[in-house]
Amino acid sequence: MFMKKTFVTKEQIEEITKHYPTPFHIYDEKGIRENARKLKQAFSWNKGFKEYFAVKATPNPFILNMLREEGCGVDCSSYTELMLSEALDFSGHEIMFSSNATPAEDFKKARELNAIINLDDFTHIDFLEKVAGIPEVISCRYNPGGVFKATNGIMDNPGDAKYGFTKQQLIDGFLLLKEKGAKKFGIHSFLASNTISNEYYPTLAGILFELAVELREKTGVDIQFINLSGGIGIPYRPEEKANDILAIGEGVRKVYEKILVPAGMGDVAIYTELGRFMLGPYGHLIAKAVHEKHIYKEYIGLDASAVDLMRPAMYGAYHHITVLGKENDAHDHVYDITGSLCENNDKFAIDRELPKIEIGDYLVIHDTGAHGYAMGYNYNGKLKSAELLLKENGSVQLIRRAETPKDYFATFDFSDILKNMKY
Ligand SMILES: *Cc1c(COP(=O)(O)O)cnc(C)c1O
Repeated sequence: MFMKKTFVTKEQIEEITKHYPTPFHIYDEKGIRENARKLKQAFSWNKGFKEYFAVKATPNPFILNMLREEGCGVDCSSYTELMLSEALDFSGHEIMFSSNATPAEDFKKARELNAIINLDDFTHIDFLEKVAGIPEVISCRYNPGGVFKATNGIMDNPGDAKYGFTKQQLIDGFLLLKEKGAKKFGIHSFLASNTISNEYYPTLAGILFELAVELREKTGVDIQFINLSGGIGIPYRPEEKANDILAIGEGVRKVYEKILVPAGMGDVAIYTELGRFMLGPYGHLIAKAVHEKHIYKEYIGLDASAVDLMRPAMYGAYHHITVLGKENDAHDHVYDITGSLCENNDKFAIDRELPKIEIGDYLVIHDTGAHGYAMGYNYNGKLKSAELLLKENGSVQLIRRAETPKDYFATFDFSDILKNMKY
């Protein structure tokens, strides 16, 4: 049977819950740092390499600071993400701003911080010029259309995606931007999400490197960086094999040597905007079994719900579950593991084979480090959980407190209509 290891034990969780009640997300500092170092090593052949962590995946300032210590910048997509990065003293070219359908205030903020702006559309050139001016360094996002194939099959369908410029728009766009004063250019593309393949980045790199050579020929612009963006996946299922980031870095290097170096573009920097790969495996959602129910199926009800982790409800995504202390017991029961929302899709697992679960058991829901807490919401008046950090020395640090009812009702504070609320 395939196993997936937790980075905390039952004993540790029993200790932690004396101070912080479930549910909570907990992150593994050691795993995060080791993985970030491996990414850096994988691209150490490229002088200008930089990872801009996709803030939306895990927008926690403690995590962002940790990643900065490992040499990462930040990739922001909204005004508040820019604010967060500013407050942590990320500055200028440590910030990538990759957004779409971008509000004017967001562009203004990005310009104020001198972030690298990655435009999503041709029409945004005039829009940006009008609201904030054209910077000297600018990037544009490419959408090749059609379907995106690697040798192991179709990976995704860019032709259906709302993002990016067509090729002709890129050519016209670079010329227009040059005319408006831009001096240094970047190219960005995100063609497939959560890829479990060492081929995704090298295949994407091949497309972008050839495009870069063509763009330089046709527009004469100085291309300084190529941003491979996010999309490297993680093995959510125990039988899936993790990507080998060293092999991925080597695969990109080969394509770089083959296409860019002979074109005299051997000084182009490679950027990445990984989110899931950086954090996903290093987060657990810890929840407690609080109810059991026997009707047409067997149910276990948790104190966590889809507000803590939306991916199963939203995408039918698989998240592995470990019952702490029962790792080696026979998985001879079949359960639906649910939250308490008045929504039948509030299920962390459906028909999952697990050991017999008792009320009070702690469950680890794996791989919640990215797009986990961050996608949370407040449906059914549910409050958002705390986030904890398991430090390298084994201690636990609170890195976000749990929401209180006061936080939930705070948006009525312009009025006295809730003056009788008892907190
Ligand atoms: C979401 C996103 C990322 C990160 O994606 P992952 O799948 O978490 O790697 C990077 N860049 C952009 C523009 C994104 O929207």
